[in-house]
Amino acid sequence: MTEKTVDGGSKKFSQSLGIVSNTSLQPHHNDDIMTDCIFCKIAKGEVPCHKIYEDNEVIVILDRSQLTLGHSMVIPKNHKRWLWHHEDEEYTKIMHTAKKIANAMRDSLKIDWVEMVVAGMGVQHTHVHILPRYDDDGHGEIPIPNTKTKEFKEEDMKKVVEEIKKSL
Ligand SMILES: [Zn+2]
Repeated sequence: MTEKTVDGGSKKFSQSLGIVSNTSLQPHHNDDIMTDCIFCKIAKGEVPCHKIYEDNEVIVILDRSQLTLGHSMVIPKNHKRWLWHHEDEEYTKIMHTAKKIANAMRDSLKIDWVEMVVAGMGVQHTHVHILPRYDDDGHGEIPIPNTKTKEFKEEDMKKVVEEIKKSL
C-alpha cells in the first residue's frame, strides 16, 4: 500500500527525473517535490495560458477548468507545495495580488460576489483560486466539486481576460 501513495510515487518519479534533467533544474527545496510541475512551466512561459497579470513574483491565469466564467488562479513563481512554505513577504504578495484581481473582477464583470480558495493538492504548487460568483451560477456554497466545471468558448475566455485586465 505505502509504495502506492501519491507522495511516495512522486518522490520516486522526481528522483528518476533528476538523473536525466539538465540545466533546467529548479530549486525545489520542499518535502513534496514535483520536478515536472505544470505551474512552473506556465510561469516560465513554456506552456500557453490565458494570462491576466504577471510580475517577477506571481502570475495570474484563467483556470483551464472554469467553475464560473473568469475563474482564475494566482500562482507564485517560487515553487512551494503549501501556503505555509512561503515566507510572510511572499504570502502577503500572493494574497494582495488575489485581492487586486478580486477587485478588478468586481469592477469589470457583472459579478455578485467573489470567493477564494488556497490549493496545492491537484497541482502540487501553491495557488489561490479566485471565483467570480453570480447569483444564477447554480453552484451554491463552496467548496464546489470540480465535476461542476463549465465549458466556455475560447473567445469568451479571451474576452473575460481582457475585461479583468482593463480594471487592474
Ligand atoms: Zn511548480
